[in-house]
Amino acid sequence: MKKVKLKKEAEHKIFIGMAILLFLIFGIMGIIKVRKELNYQKTYESKLINYGYTLEEATDLINIFSDQELDSILTITKDSKIINLGNEKYFIFNNLERYLTYLTNNPDISFKDVVALVNVNRDYEFYSHDLVGKNIDASNIIVNKYYILDENYVPDDLVNISLQYAYAGHKIKKEALDAYVSMWHEAKDNGIQLIVNSSYRSYAEQKDIYDSYIIKYGQKKTDEMAARPGYSEHQSGLVIDVFEINNQKTGTFKDSVAYEWLKNNAYKFGFIERYPENKENITGYSFESWHWRYVGKDVAKIIHDEDITYDEYYAYYVENQA
Ligand SMILES: [Zn+2]
Repeated sequence: MKKVKLKKEAEHKIFIGMAILLFLIFGIMGIIKVRKELNYQKTYESKLINYGYTLEEATDLINIFSDQELDSILTITKDSKIINLGNEKYFIFNNLERYLTYLTNNPDISFKDVVALVNVNRDYEFYSHDLVGKNIDASNIIVNKYYILDENYVPDDLVNISLQYAYAGHKIKKEALDAYVSMWHEAKDNGIQLIVNSSYRSYAEQKDIYDSYIIKYGQKKTDEMAARPGYSEHQSGLVIDVFEINNQKTGTFKDSVAYEWLKNNAYKFGFIERYPENKENITGYSFESWHWRYVGKDVAKIIHDEDITYDEYYAYYVENQA
């Protein structure tokens, strides 16, 4: 009898032991599950899905954006177009909300164009949003219908262009002149004789030109043709209006061998075509085949290779960099 009792007690203990063990196992599994769940809730995947994005969209967003950027995305209205915009090469995160607003107002424009236009501030009216660029004295200065130069700004190293290369009285910055002289000789070796007929213009000179155009053509036409004082790139001392000695007409220079040569070669000397054809919407200026801007060889090569305007280059590669 005693033996049976002992056996029963032992069985009872084993049973309780097993029960405790099972309880612990399930308890631990439960805790692990809850912790996993809590950890998942902290992930961007979970946060984005809760915010209304699909799993696929959440994955795309996580692949495109940094954690800090995702935090920002979680504070603005859910919009799948953020993925399309973020995939654009020249996308700038700080412009995101402006891109979205521009898209809402212009639903037929491609994502690529929205990024390009907003990057160059075209969501603001010309002359309505004055900015001061970085590096005022450097060759990567920008001057356009948004970035202005002070009335008193004069480049510090202007030099005369000798009469072999330009008409009388023209000045540009020394670095630009050296590049132009090299380019001039290379062109000459190719049977093209370049000549500069406009270069550095002071604020006061630009004002005289602009005011005289206003009288002749009226405000609207003038703004398409000439820069307002303070907004002219000629004031930077980095610009030449250059023609071929036998072809100095603004209307026909674009069809000349000289223009074709400049298009293919000027970047090798650090010059870029500043107001190209079909880019009026970006640059704010009509096509000017004769207006060439010195930016230095490295910058000119990027602009040439990527086929972008200087305004787009500046937004992405200069202003966007910390
Ligand atoms: Zn010009």
